[in-house]
Amino acid sequence: MSGVADLPPLREIIAELGLSARKELGQNFLFDLNLTGRIARSAGDLSSSTVVEIGPGPGGLTRALLMAGATDLIVVERDPRVRPALEAIAAVAPGAVRIIEADALEIDVASLSDAPIKIVANLPYNVATPLLTGWLTHPDWPGRFESLTLMFQREVADRICAAPGSKAYGRLSVLCAWKTERRKLFDVSPAAFTPPPKVTSSIVQLVPAKTARAVPLGLFEAVTRAAFGQRRKMLRQSLKATGAPVEAMLAEAGLKGTERAEELTPEQFLDLAEIVGRLRQSFSD
Ligand code: SAM
Repeated sequence: MSGVADLPPLREIIAELGLSARKELGQNFLFDLNLTGRIARSAGDLSSSTVVEIGPGPGGLTRALLMAGATDLIVVERDPRVRPALEAIAAVAPGAVRIIEADALEIDVASLSDAPIKIVANLPYNVATPLLTGWLTHPDWPGRFESLTLMFQREVADRICAAPGSKAYGRLSVLCAWKTERRKLFDVSPAAFTPPPKVTSSIVQLVPAKTARAVPLGLFEAVTRAAFGQRRKMLRQSLKATGAPVEAMLAEAGLKGTERAEELTPEQFLDLAEIVGRLRQSFSD
């Protein structure tokens, strides 16, 4: 899209609008066209999906998404100061960009389009994890969600991708393993951002798991919260917080009870959630 390539450089736009980055909004902007282009292309073919970008800021990644072929792009931004910069982009890509000025935590992304949805975003760090868990626990997941290509702080990316037995393995890892197939694509140095954050960032791609077990979310959360809430304790102790009879639970799951949360696979957590459901049922019968 030649119109987008002809827009003034982002630094000029920012200077013109007198935009200073706000820490409380997690504002660390990307100006490097090679990098934003790489992120946009890593989301694959953008032309047959609705692309949703959370937190476009002045629009560096937004421009790259259009140049990578997005024809139906929805941007959700909380900061009204960047609106003129986003409107300038929308003006050179007629009909391709919809700007929603809102808190992304309050938006039901799945209802924004009838087409498959690809979310691509350099997420604001302060709300990145609640946004991700909100999408993965959406009642319609996977529904229209096609893929999520997201920038996180590296420490969060490591938790998302962690395997059992590692220090980073926790509730977020188990939820992501249950609902998605995920992989870390590449790291991004603090120097790539303006202003630079304190830590390295990583791009992670998550696509809905082809088959995810239909376990009630409430039970899954009760079990993982109990187990990881006291991650140093043995399961025999930590699982008491589920309120279910622990010895029966462990016996049914084939566990000794001396294991700790970080040793269990996502499948074993799902087994435990199902068992808690059955035990609660039999106690209320
Ligand atoms: N996409 C731009 C880039 O890569 O240069 C900016 C990324 S910056 C890390 C995060 C953006 O998210 C900021 O523009 C910020 O104003 C916006 N933001 C912060 N909290 C938000 C929220 N709750 N809902 C929507 N946007 C938010």
